[in-house]
Amino acid sequence: MACATRFQPSTLSYAFSPIVSRRARLPPNPLRFRHFFSDGRSRFCNTMTGAPVMEVSAKTRRTFLFKEDEVASPADLSFEAPLKIVEYPDPILRARNKLIGTFDENLKKLVDEMFDVMYKTDGIGLSAPQVGLNVRLMVFNPVGERGEGEEIVLINPRVSKYSKKMVLFNEGCLSFPGIYADVERPESVKVDARNIAGARFSVNLSGLPARVFQHEFDHLQGSLFFDRMTEEVLENICADLRALEKKYEDTTGFPSPEKIDTCKAQSKAQKAVAGFGRP
Ligand SMILES: [Zn+2]
Repeated sequence: MACATRFQPSTLSYAFSPIVSRRARLPPNPLRFRHFFSDGRSRFCNTMTGAPVMEVSAKTRRTFLFKEDEVASPADLSFEAPLKIVEYPDPILRARNKLIGTFDENLKKLVDEMFDVMYKTDGIGLSAPQVGLNVRLMVFNPVGERGEGEEIVLINPRVSKYSKKMVLFNEGCLSFPGIYADVERPESVKVDARNIAGARFSVNLSGLPARVFQHEFDHLQGSLFFDRMTEEVLENICADLRALEKKYEDTTGFPSPEKIDTCKAQSKAQKAVAGFGRP
């Protein structure tokens, strides 16, 4: 997550405070927008964190858990420094992220490199898929300055509680350079995770740490921040998203793997241009 340009003061809190809500286990704020992929598929991005909501057959459930619990191999955790930020619409950002089962020196080096690139790009949070590694790891420091604030590393995180209270916040994302927009999320969350040594722990996050965590957690679920924006907000950044899609196509020579399809504002602009000069 990139540093936001403006803040809502009521949402800011650098302290970890207790959760007061007994809200539900389901991720609130279900995604409202469908994005179209170049192969003709469409999907609503899934933010589920645990078992399926609906009753499913035993066979289906076993399959789901197997995929969810797939553990990363050494090759999945192989990297070269310096790390580079993966930008939208690279399909790496939508790929499944595997659990980390090995807590070794390589993992510590990866975490160090992730903090390094995060600080260099003025970020306050970064997930592993954003540097090309599809594993369930995130780092963040809400202060965004090396040597200040608290560096937080969460491995294989899960959310056990969300607050009922929802707040708006102007978010940025290192995978969407220069794009900032309002996103609504729960004000606080309770998280279970492992630390860099592999030890399990739980933490209650609220305010900005909860905001950054949820943004990065979405990355680990293959979701991106614009998936959660209202149609009105999305319209304001539609042209910027399409510009990134074109940049990807120009750079790689491949069609964009997904395309924004809800650009009403741009459609109106195009109509205005088409009508220019008419009597
Ligand atoms: Zn991001």
